Amino acid sequence: VLTTATSSTPDTHRVTFSRLTLPHHWLATVGAWVFVLGYNQPLWQRISPTVPDTFQGTLFLAAFALFLATVLTVLLQSIAIPKLQKPMLIFLFMSAAPIHFFMTHYGVIIDKSMVQNAFETDTAEVHDLLSGAFILHLLLFGVLPSALVCWVRITYPTLKKGLLIWLVYLIAAIITIVALNAGFSKSFSSTFRNHREIRHLIIPSNYLYYTGRYLSGAYDVQNQPLQRIGEDAKLAPIWDRIQKPIVTVVIVGETARAANFGLNGYERNTTPELSQLPIINFGSVESCGTSTAVSVPCMFSDMTHANYDGSTATHRENVLDVLGHAGIPVLWRDNNSGCKGVCDRITSQPQSTYWDDSVCKDDHCFDEAMTHHLDTWLANAGDKAVIVLHQQGSHGPAYYQRYPKAFEQFTPICETGDLKTCSPEAIRNTYDNSLLYTDHVIANVIRYFQERNDQWASSVVYLSDHGESLGENNMYLHGMPYFIAPDTQTHVPMVAWLSDAFQQQMEIDTNCVQQQAKTATSQDALFHSLLGLMAVDTHLYQKDQDRFGVCRRG
Ligand SMILES: [Zn+2]
Repeated sequence: VLTTATSSTPDTHRVTFSRLTLPHHWLATVGAWVFVLGYNQPLWQRISPTVPDTFQGTLFLAAFALFLATVLTVLLQSIAIPKLQKPMLIFLFMSAAPIHFFMTHYGVIIDKSMVQNAFETDTAEVHDLLSGAFILHLLLFGVLPSALVCWVRITYPTLKKGLLIWLVYLIAAIITIVALNAGFSKSFSSTFRNHREIRHLIIPSNYLYYTGRYLSGAYDVQNQPLQRIGEDAKLAPIWDRIQKPIVTVVIVGETARAANFGLNGYERNTTPELSQLPIINFGSVESCGTSTAVSVPCMFSDMTHANYDGSTATHRENVLDVLGHAGIPVLWRDNNSGCKGVCDRITSQPQSTYWDDSVCKDDHCFDEAMTHHLDTWLANAGDKAVIVLHQQGSHGPAYYQRYPKAFEQFTPICETGDLKTCSPEAIRNTYDNSLLYTDHVIANVIRYFQERNDQWASSVVYLSDHGESLGENNMYLHGMPYFIAPDTQTHVPMVAWLSDAFQQQMEIDTNCVQQQAKTATSQDALFHSLLGLMAVDTHLYQKDQDRFGVCRRG
């Protein structure tokens, strides 16, 4: 496209770039192929190892690419009209670029809950994810192709001719798909059957589909009436014998994985403080989901991992409401990105309530801040209370920002959110330091109530929401669809501590709980365990799911 143009003065020549001119349907076709080949490495990396390393296998991969390009071409042809085609293509490139970054850098997969997380995140979480590599990626995969689209000159036919061209493409596409299906039907059906995750991997359909569903309100049920549950809840007869005020604290952990938890036999002692305390460790606990947006509502819900439905959860009461029905005041303190609807109907206190300059700075508090200024609320709670503390825990990728410097025990660390630039060892060190700090935070809550033994008979339960991938099999962070998620994302630590007064007043035999803790359990147990710990009777209560009340004497 370099041409020599003669300027008005005959003696001088000027070199200019003339713009490339393309017919509209060419732009659509080229655009489709650019997406299929340039933005779908995660898809090809997933499929390639599953096909035989033969000519037939390679042919199938080519057929797969042709299939995707054919479908996408027809879609892009449908929007190939003046004033719409270029803005739409630019929108696609600019939106695909960050998605492509997270998929290739962190191995994430785009599905309903990932899109939901993206929309419900906060600025701190976004800030953690931004890095030089991210900006470069945006320039390369977003801005550059968009600039090319701007630059190229497009010719448009008359409406009649345009429709004709579109029809030709449609017929050609149908013929291509029928032919591909005839030639590769077995391979196609087995690939789609055995790799259900494929639909979450295809850019741009994956994020467009789930974002469209999200924005159209398919996952949003605010207009649905509230489903009340456990309205028959009341304090069990044991409360007649109780003399000391009773409090249970639930610490909802963030991104702590069972495999790196010292108490679970990890080679490093990441739980030095808890191991000095008389706690009960639950060594085998499965999470309900692999993201906060799923796990947190699910663990408090009476729905189980097997039948959990996120949209139902948004307008259905949970165990905190049931405790409320029994007359127990419940408080939620959040140091994470929100309670995901779980605290909608109970008292919740923002960061400003527990802000303390000793552990808070620049809009951010370390998790141990959450016990600060708690006495005021406790003093007004009466003789019974449940408190939920929602941690920031080990939320990635900026693990190094999750703990004060004093907890930097394992070094070298990874001081960036761009994990790919760090060694696996540095990532593990940083993550383990964040667990060391969580150990300190949990132990701190226990000590806080040990110091108030004369006022309260207390118990503390810690349960992480989901685990994390630290680069194993090139996977980072969390949020994998559950059925293909690795154990590191679905196995979480859980710890409980019952003060002597609590054991005595609530008539719970901790030796029995220690035995309970040896059997495998899941986040499904939290609903019933909280009712059991607080001795609340309701028809919803299932004793076999309760890890504590089942050990009540008499
Ligand atoms: Zn989480």
